[in-house]
Amino acid sequence: MDTVSLSGKELAAAINADTKARAATLATGGPAPRLALVVANDDPASAWYVNSLRKAAERLGITCDTVELGADASAEAIRAELDARSADSATDAIMLQTPLPAGIGLDDVSSSIAATKDVDGVSPLSLGLLASNLDGFVPATSEAVVELLKHHEIPLAGRHVAVVGRSNIVGKPLAQLLLAENATVTVAHSRTTDLPSVTSAADIVVAAAGRIDLVTGKHIGEAAVVVDVGTNEAPDGKIVGDVEADSVRGKAAALSPVPGGVGPVTTALLMRHVVTAAENARRA
Ligand code: NDP
Repeated sequence: MDTVSLSGKELAAAINADTKARAATLATGGPAPRLALVVANDDPASAWYVNSLRKAAERLGITCDTVELGADASAEAIRAELDARSADSATDAIMLQTPLPAGIGLDDVSSSIAATKDVDGVSPLSLGLLASNLDGFVPATSEAVVELLKHHEIPLAGRHVAVVGRSNIVGKPLAQLLLAENATVTVAHSRTTDLPSVTSAADIVVAAAGRIDLVTGKHIGEAAVVVDVGTNEAPDGKIVGDVEADSVRGKAAALSPVPGGVGPVTTALLMRHVVTAAENARRA
């Protein structure tokens, strides 16, 4: 079987064109939309991602402040920065970069991000709004998976989707978005017994575990659609996903590439959220 590549580049470009136009409109009547990117680590992969977000923002006409708190920042210091940015009328949007310093969980600090500025949907309020099917910002990576599938005209209603991973910022919100699309959803995790039998029963498999080569050909059914969310650093320094592409290609109907699949759509949606937050703030 020829496996179709679920590229995210075309979709990301279309979203970015719209975002750029909206950012330009905002900038004619006042300041450009402004994102605060709060960093409390010295992780090279995180630094690479922050740099790519800054460049994406710049290209789209969004001002980006990177706030470096240091890898030994306390939870109090992180909360104080998030509280200050939440109260600052010049800041439209806030993103807290992970990883956080050892011993500090996202849940320990994320409630300090105002829901109106929480463009990656990580605060308990944003996650609760999503769980209740109410309007709010949803985590961009989860939204990117759904948008990528829709862009490639893969139907979701009534289909069985297996999501591998149950984190608060990817797997769990993705399961909720898929339920809202009327998919039948199974969520697998590290304690799932017999992962291949769970995933091979699904029409669509989404790998979001952060484990290189976790999903192989034996994990998927004939003609399944496979979305690879993983972004892992291989020993040779390359960015690779969670799917062993060689054994999946030829069996799957479609597979999203890494890089170039979910990643560019995630960044594009984050920037779209920044502009939406700025538009909402100007209207308020
Ligand atoms: P987490 O580490 O927070 O969560 C990983 C999840 O995978 C957990 O639920 C864990 O289960 C599950 N898991 C781990 N090992 C296995 C296994 N062997 N079998 C089944 N399930 C397993 O990661 P995130 O959710 O933050 O990120 C997931 C991946 O997505 C990472 O590669 C990350 O880099 C990538 N990512 C990509 C983005 C993009 O834009 N493309 C953006 C954000 C993340 P348990 O709960 O039991 O521990």
